[in-house]
Amino acid sequence: MEVLARPFGEFQTNCYIVDKKIIIDPGIGAFKWVKENVKDPIAIINTHGHFDHVWDDKKVNEYFNIPLYIHKDDAFFLQNDPFGFNPPKVEPDVLLEEGNYKIGDYEILIRHFAGHTPGSITIEIGDNMFSGDFVFDGSIGRVDFPYSNPEAMKESIKKFLKIPYDKIVHPGHGFSTTIKKAQKFLPTWLEYL
Ligand SMILES: [Zn+2]
Ligand SMILES: [Zn+2]
Repeated sequence: MEVLARPFGEFQTNCYIVDKKIIIDPGIGAFKWVKENVKDPIAIINTHGHFDHVWDDKKVNEYFNIPLYIHKDDAFFLQNDPFGFNPPKVEPDVLLEEGNYKIGDYEILIRHFAGHTPGSITIEIGDNMFSGDFVFDGSIGRVDFPYSNPEAMKESIKKFLKIPYDKIVHPGHGFSTTIKKAQKFLPTWLEYL
């Protein structure tokens, strides 16, 4: 499985492309890079609804005519940006919940981890987990934003600690880590929430 990554915009938001087919979080200005690096893409998936992760959804969605997936609790961000940056409004095609999805030939596991946003998810494809702004390499996403919830974040961390296997974790910002490494540093963050 091939995972391409590139950060975009002033927040250096990572956009990922899996096997040239699945586009995760096409952020500010990602469209051109996506266009150059996909081949017959099949889906766009957002880890959550923040503007810097969804900005180029509309361009990619319309250009390739492929479905846009986002958790049902974060879909409202695509119409109303509480930060006022106002990315192009777009209608999601599929509202995700926790569970298994078959997208093309891919078995994809969606886990719901509210806290940073109400509908933050991780996306597992093969040995890879895309964690958005829930878990970074050494830290967690901010919980002081509009619609963030520190209590929900606590529960999400406890839930993440129970994942019994290891995978590479590709976060929304910064470098990759692994589930096992994250499970080592995450308990410390419980004390700050
Ligand atoms: Zn975010
Ligand atoms: Zn972010």
